[in-house]
Amino acid sequence: MKKPFLIAGPCSAKSEKHIFEIAKSISLYIDVFRAGLWKARTHPDSFAGVGELGLPWLKKINLELGLKTSTEIANTNHVEKCLHYNIDMLWIGARTTTNPFSIQEIAESLRGTSKTVIIKNPIHPDIKAWIGAIERIKKANIKNIILVHRGFFLGNKHKYRNEPIWEIPLKVKKMFPEHMLLCDPSHISGDKKWIYDISKEALLNKKMDGLMIETHLKPELSLSDKKQHINNFDLGKIYYDLF
Ligand code: PEP
Ligand code: MN
Repeated sequence: MKKPFLIAGPCSAKSEKHIFEIAKSISLYIDVFRAGLWKARTHPDSFAGVGELGLPWLKKINLELGLKTSTEIANTNHVEKCLHYNIDMLWIGARTTTNPFSIQEIAESLRGTSKTVIIKNPIHPDIKAWIGAIERIKKANIKNIILVHRGFFLGNKHKYRNEPIWEIPLKVKKMFPEHMLLCDPSHISGDKKWIYDISKEALLNKKMDGLMIETHLKPELSLSDKKQHINNFDLGKIYYDLF
């Protein structure tokens, strides 16, 4: 079996030092470092990210640690800024995947580039919305695409923050076998205590191609999604046990 692909890093970047130290602590395990700069938050008073200020911080991680980097983009302005800083992979979050207007604009602004685009499933279990988003990106002649299952929001009375519905990503993977399918146990679980089990299920039972995991040196200090971050040691355990 091919070694699984691993993307990890914090939900959001706080400072240059903050993300550099996290990246350094997990650089042995990961293929790509992640950190959100523009954060789509439900409440207007929540931390919305540092924005373009963080782009040179990601660049520094790329140059000094030799790691590929990724961040979330939700509009053409984000795309242009990321292209300017040559960020390797751009991810489309669940809220954006839901919206065909946004996806079309993003696709046009990426046309002709060789960027890798990571497409997370939409918030709700709407397989057609996810497939539509993938097709729009492909029609813009973007060849490098990675798919991520981050679970579906089914209301608050469930075990997980977003329930996995494995047959949906597996069906999508069958349609697009040329693209890697990763699992994001962080946004599925909403709680660090489930990350290991969901990762194991995704890799060993569902044969998915890798994971995207929110990781922090001190999860309790994270400015977003604090409950679901694991630390660098727990990421190492997942890596040594499951990879
Ligand atoms: C994230 O990866 O930080 C994120 C916001 O994910 P999602 O779009 O899956 O909620
Ligand atoms: Mn998050």
